[in-house]
Amino acid sequence: MDMNIAVIGTGYVGLVSGVCFAKLGNRVICVDKDPGKIDVLNAGGIPIYEPGLRELAAAGRAAGNLTFTTDLSGAVRQSDIIMLAVGTPPLPSGEANLAFIEEAALEIADAMNGYKIIAVKSTVPVGTNERLGELMRSRTNERFDGISLPEFLREGSAIRDTLHPDRIIIGAASRSAADTMARLHRPLTERIVVTDIRSAEMIKYASNAFLATKISFINEIANICEKVGADVTKVAEGMGYDSRIGPSFLRAGIGYGGSCFPKDTRALMQIAGHVDYDFKLLRSVVEVNQDQRYNVIRKLETIFGGEMAGKTVAVWGLAFKPNTDDVRDSPALDIIRHLVDQQVKVRAYDPIALGNFQALFGKEGVAWCDDAMETARGADAVCL
Ligand code: NAD
Repeated sequence: MDMNIAVIGTGYVGLVSGVCFAKLGNRVICVDKDPGKIDVLNAGGIPIYEPGLRELAAAGRAAGNLTFTTDLSGAVRQSDIIMLAVGTPPLPSGEANLAFIEEAALEIADAMNGYKIIAVKSTVPVGTNERLGELMRSRTNERFDGISLPEFLREGSAIRDTLHPDRIIIGAASRSAADTMARLHRPLTERIVVTDIRSAEMIKYASNAFLATKISFINEIANICEKVGADVTKVAEGMGYDSRIGPSFLRAGIGYGGSCFPKDTRALMQIAGHVDYDFKLLRSVVEVNQDQRYNVIRKLETIFGGEMAGKTVAVWGLAFKPNTDDVRDSPALDIIRHLVDQQVKVRAYDPIALGNFQALFGKEGVAWCDDAMETARGADAVCL
């Protein structure tokens, strides 16, 4: 079934979703308020790095069912389903900043010209969808149904994750709107869970918190393994064959980063705090993760006998994980900052994330390299 869809926010989530829904034969208008992004997209470029996205976007444009614009009102008027995929970055308190999504919801309300489904893909605290609905109702008399449609894609494999999702969660108060959303997603999977809106919002946070817990758990096991002479990769393999545990998210390392796990775990602690619940387990997960970043520094200090100043350390990899240019909350930011503060000469390399990293970190104090081997040449240590 072809549908007319407007996707508001063409970042990692919105752009991938829009391109994939166009591939399924829907007519999709992707909207962003950043004219620079829209210009790049209209010129056939892609403002982010995501494998396979450029080709799929080109196919959508060639087929005539994928367009990009800054005109939110026009896109809303031409569409029956509006998907919100704007950012919900963390506030200093850890809570999600809802300013962007509230602004977008009001703009949508002002453009309404008949019944529409408003589906929220952005990760938002429990109760937000209801509040957005009230906000919109204060501005429009047109009918609409709000849907919580949490997103689970992973950067680096976002297209595969979108076209072959493990599940689709539809949080709805209206049966018919839920049915429409289920029809839209049925070409992707039969595993569609329809639930109330608050449960859908919670499923997203609970899923990310659980995955973060797995990562911190295996990192603590790794730290103990190093002390008792066990090999954590073998331990993880042995654990992972247990179908109750599963093999994923058991790779020990420098901990999670990126634009989701750090912010969503902190936001869930805040959500719990607001109802007077102290989420002790998650607090430890976050603490373990933050400390894990400094493990690599402690190792270097041990190797160099405490003499860090003047040593040369190469860093391979600046994004928070491979196959993405997203450096938001990347452990490399803290690690390199710490090394530079200790007067270590840092040489850094990343095949795709260098520009984004420099935009956050600044260009000073680090030798930026454009070749992995050149970065490592002459270094006292290489951090991966
Ligand atoms: P992003 O920062 O990459 O993109 C957000 C886009 O929204 C930006 O391009 C911005 O210009 C645009 N925008 C903001 N306000 C707007 C407005 N009023 N009108 C039009 N465009 C507007 O963010 P993202 O990484 O795609 O994440 C979006 C949401 O999805 C967040 O809530 C995030 O937590 C959630 N999420 C992200 C991922 C991920 O891997 N990145 C995965 C699952 C869920």
